[in-house]
Amino acid sequence: MAAAVKLAESGQICTVFEAAKTLGGRARRITYKGAALDNGQHILSGAYTELLRLMALVGVPDTAFDRVPLNLTFAWPTAGAPTAFALSTPTLPAPLHMAAGLLSAKGLNWAERLAAIRLLRALKKSRFKVDARMSVAEFLRTHQQPTKLIQFLWQPLTISALNTPLATASAQVFANVLRDALAAGRAASDLIFPKVDLSQLFPDPAAHWLAGKGATVKSGVRVTAIEKADAGFDIIYGAGSDAQPEVRETFSHIILAVAPHQLGSFASLDSEIQAIFSNAVDHFQYEPITTIYLAFPPQNTSSTILMPRSMLGRTNGMVQWFFDREALSNQNGNIGVYAGVVSASGMHERWSLDEIATVALRELRDWLPNLPAPLWHKVVHEKRATFACTPNLTRPASETAARGLVLAGDYVACDYPATLEAAVRNGCHAADIVHADM
Ligand SMILES: Cc1cc2nc3c(=O)[nH]c(=O)nc-3n(C[C@H](O)[C@H](O)[C@H](O)COP(=O)(O)OP(=O)(O)OC[C@H]3O[C@@H](n4cnc5c(N)ncnc54)[C@H](O)[C@@H]3O)c2cc1C
Repeated sequence: MAAAVKLAESGQICTVFEAAKTLGGRARRITYKGAALDNGQHILSGAYTELLRLMALVGVPDTAFDRVPLNLTFAWPTAGAPTAFALSTPTLPAPLHMAAGLLSAKGLNWAERLAAIRLLRALKKSRFKVDARMSVAEFLRTHQQPTKLIQFLWQPLTISALNTPLATASAQVFANVLRDALAAGRAASDLIFPKVDLSQLFPDPAAHWLAGKGATVKSGVRVTAIEKADAGFDIIYGAGSDAQPEVRETFSHIILAVAPHQLGSFASLDSEIQAIFSNAVDHFQYEPITTIYLAFPPQNTSSTILMPRSMLGRTNGMVQWFFDREALSNQNGNIGVYAGVVSASGMHERWSLDEIATVALRELRDWLPNLPAPLWHKVVHEKRATFACTPNLTRPASETAARGLVLAGDYVACDYPATLEAAVRNGCHAADIVHADM
């Protein structure tokens, strides 16, 4: 959708094919028992400049999200226990906001606070270039980062942004994230919480805006094959049945913006195109993300079941972060929905979805012992949520051996890990390549 919007911005009108009925891919709305949920709880960062720009361009109102200064709070797993760690950035200009935030972080001693500042200063001095072969764990060891600082700051940041465990996460990509989110302007470190479902946050308004420009968005249409044609490429779609006959349509250029593991699903008689599909991401490995939604009966003011913060980290256990979705968005006015997030692989992958929900409920009750029985739960386990962002991973370039066939998506080479911003920046870059070629 980002590529289509960027093309339309430069006057090129395109057709978007989306296999699913709902737009948004991995960041899309799902509905369950009448409640608007998402394929996974997402947060955006103030550093997502291109996504925020496109959202504004297609008319997403500021009321669609809540933008707040960085606040990372972890609580011990007992009701009323003191905060284990809290980092918040005051409204000072950069870089004072981050220095002041780190120096006043709760739960760290002075040596730990200064170690964090030392690491950011060392990164700045090296212009955020680190040994590309290093994992985040090795990098933190080299910079003698204390255990508590790793537990409460560096590990959660790595897992949230790279969705890859410290021992195998790329230190260079981690440094890129710190450069743009923590060490840049004050606004870049803001956290942005969607107040609408993820399809409404960008792809639905983008489709509406694109229609106004004359572009076509065909949802529920899966492309099955791509072939070279005299005037560009043929794409083949449609089930091939009487109800949905197979259609062959020619386009001058194609931007292939699927998830990396979906690249292999296209057929082609052309060996050059076939090689693009099979070689680009053969070496990729993937990490899961599990989101556990727990719905409770309506709240009332006398028996509030709100968490102390609407995004709260756990010091240990299965769930890493809990989100109070109603406090964040009030999307499902008549019920309270909490989302627990478990990023990257772990023990929970051996459990059934119901067992995962039971553990999440027990962990939420550590803080909120008076929670009533949930009305329902819904666990979304995305096995291949993101590619594993490991050191020296070769990510394919946008341009392929077949001129006019351009790759986009979060996995294509760029500074960012698999995030919404990576997908959007790569989409815009692909659009620029096509526009230049036209
Ligand atoms: C649970 C979860 C939580 C996440 N949390 C965050 C977060 O908090 N912040 C963040 O920035 N990022 C987060 N991410 C990552 C983010 O969602 C992805 O990086 C981003 O959505 C990737 O977008 P994409 O366009 O590259 O790929 P996708 O979103 O995977 O889009 C690819 C699209 O191609 C379509 N498609 C595939 N094959 C065909 C075909 N043959 N024909 C037609 N269409 C086809 C698919 O249906 C899909 O819609 C999270 C991801 C998950 C799964």
